[in-house]
Amino acid sequence: MPDRPRLSTRCVHAGARRGPAELGLNTPIVTSTAYDYTDGEGVRYPRYLNTPNHGVVADRIASLESAEAALVTASGLGAISALLFGLLEPGDHVIVLDGVYGGTSDLVDGLLQPWGLRHSTWDGRRESLAGLIEDRTRLAWVESPTNPLLKVVDLKATASILKDHDVLAAIDNTFATPVLQRPLEFGFDLVMHSATKYLGGHSDLLCGALAGSAELIDRIRPAAIRLGSSLNGQDLALLDRSLKTLALRVERQSANALRLAERLSSHDGIEAVHYPGLDESPDHDLAKRQMDAYGGMMAFRLDADRHPGRFLAALSLVAPAVSLGGVETTICQPSRTSHARVSSRVRERLGIDDRLMRLSVGIEDSDDLYTDLARAVEASTGKAST
Ligand code: PLP
Repeated sequence: MPDRPRLSTRCVHAGARRGPAELGLNTPIVTSTAYDYTDGEGVRYPRYLNTPNHGVVADRIASLESAEAALVTASGLGAISALLFGLLEPGDHVIVLDGVYGGTSDLVDGLLQPWGLRHSTWDGRRESLAGLIEDRTRLAWVESPTNPLLKVVDLKATASILKDHDVLAAIDNTFATPVLQRPLEFGFDLVMHSATKYLGGHSDLLCGALAGSAELIDRIRPAAIRLGSSLNGQDLALLDRSLKTLALRVERQSANALRLAERLSSHDGIEAVHYPGLDESPDHDLAKRQMDAYGGMMAFRLDADRHPGRFLAALSLVAPAVSLGGVETTICQPSRTSHARVSSRVRERLGIDDRLMRLSVGIEDSDDLYTDLARAVEASTGKAST
């Protein structure tokens, strides 16, 4: 193998552990929950995140994210919880980007705030970041591109401002994946994934991941163990298999999304398309600097004379579904799914209403996808409320 194989090669090979020849090329799936503790290797137990299947997947994700180390967890929220509880103490202060995934804000408001964490909301502009930093600000949490409006944060500038103030920079890299964006290379300290999405990629796994320096991952590991957010051997093996096709899938999803965004933005029944790959997107130049392509996620708003319920009912290929990042194209209204628990005042400020559709573009033929979406837009006239 070359010294530093390229990313698509690492998707297939990084971290692989070969067993005895008769077991073949794949890492054997270890399902045991009981291990000999007298062999001098320490105590092995799946919840301690030290089984062979955990090691393979964690090493591969670390390699893809240009990180020293990684942890795999039982959900994305498990990863976020381990990170925040592992690194913070009551009385600390964090900065959270406005409009991050609804479950992240819910965790901060519902569990961490009563526990004693204080937080400020950042509007994403680089000029306003330093002003939010307090004596006990320990960490800033961002997403880029954001869910669901695909806004892009300047990763290099953000990491540099935070570093100057000794504040850790953490990012939810779920939408971009390491195939398109590697935030640690821009100075971020930690990367998190809802691996349920693109890393798993087939809408059949619930899992999460964190990657960063060995020192930070070692500080977070005890919290992941205490919170019990470890993934079992069989699901780790499925994630191992999914990661092998990550680059292939994401490249195709991105190409399809760009094509669809271009075509949908000139459709009469669509008021706006949010996709950083479009030349006219306000974030296009920034996205071009820090991403290798623009990803499989996009959002669009139906015209005011279209009826969202009728539009969804008229789709035959694209499936209305929560979650994202699968090989099949899915669509949802963030107002009723990811942001349903966000107050209506905040939703209104963010521009998230029932006519806003979030599309997770799959690997199907992009002409077939366009035909399905365009037909449904055409069938959706009429103002009745959903
Ligand atoms: N981050 C983002 C951007 C998400 O979309 C999600 C889930 O939808 C999460 C985090 C939480 O991940 P999980 O559902 O795997 O716990």
